[in-house]
Amino acid sequence: MRKNLGGIAAGIWVFNLVAILGLVALLYFSGVLSAAAWSEPDPNAALVAPAGKPSRTPFPTMTPVATQTRRPTITPWPTPSPGPSVTPMAMPPANRQIIGYSEEGRALDVYRFGRGPVHKLIVAGIHGGYEYNTVQLADELIAYLNDHPEQIPADTSLFILRNLNPDGSARAIGVEGRANANNVDLNRNWPYNWQKEWERDGCWIWRPIEGGEHEGSEAEVQALIAYIDNIKPVALISYHSAALGIFAGGVPDFPPSIRLAEDVAEVTDYPWPPINTGCDYTGNLTDWAASTRSIPSIDIELTDHRNTDFAQNLRVLQVFLGWRP
Ligand SMILES: [Zn+2]
Repeated sequence: MRKNLGGIAAGIWVFNLVAILGLVALLYFSGVLSAAAWSEPDPNAALVAPAGKPSRTPFPTMTPVATQTRRPTITPWPTPSPGPSVTPMAMPPANRQIIGYSEEGRALDVYRFGRGPVHKLIVAGIHGGYEYNTVQLADELIAYLNDHPEQIPADTSLFILRNLNPDGSARAIGVEGRANANNVDLNRNWPYNWQKEWERDGCWIWRPIEGGEHEGSEAEVQALIAYIDNIKPVALISYHSAALGIFAGGVPDFPPSIRLAEDVAEVTDYPWPPINTGCDYTGNLTDWAASTRSIPSIDIELTDHRNTDFAQNLRVLQVFLGWRP
């Protein structure tokens, strides 16, 4: 029995010893684990610790500055702008003069060639865009005389009004471009034999236009009257189109106008006497010039509404420049 009791007591002691060793071991390892937990890096520490290093990381971001050195390659772009050929065209020619403005404020340009005391005047475009080839002819004559100033006699000055109806030609190249901005036919507004309305038989009827509120009511007509009274031309040509021929200004007939018409007819194919359609051309420029200012004046109608008949009208120009009343 005692041996059994003694064995039991020894077993308890062994058990206690093992339990104590186990507890000590538990405390030891728990301390190590907790110590390991405390040594774990503090996430907040990362904000502090790298603070000393950022001065280096910005440097690589500055490398893009090198790309700016490539921008000078753009500067060659502005250099290929050799536009000096454009600027001279913007400058008005020395021989151009503005004699007034249209109803809508467009300039009425006259080009002068020569400095002689014998003045002659060519008017184009009185019927605007409907007869725009007369403006184109004027531009061709201006260009020709710019290249050939020697064609002007020493005693002569030639004035070319390239477009008396710029509002009409701005509106349309065609029937809608015949009248000015007030729907007035500028070749029916002159203060001689004027009528607001007229018998349309044989006359232009493609649009309902009129002669103006009163004679000489339009800015274009007023400007040209003032200019003619200023330069006092000894002869005048007004260009039209198309096809009816050459008309001598003056009611009743004005012999100097007829002589000018005959001389021009000799160098052209234009009908003379003109084709009579039965129209009474009231209030027109050449009748006014011949009958109220005694200026030999003719209308010349080009062959059609497209061509300028430049070769023929170069001959007309030469006759006109040498012509004397
Ligand atoms: Zn006409």
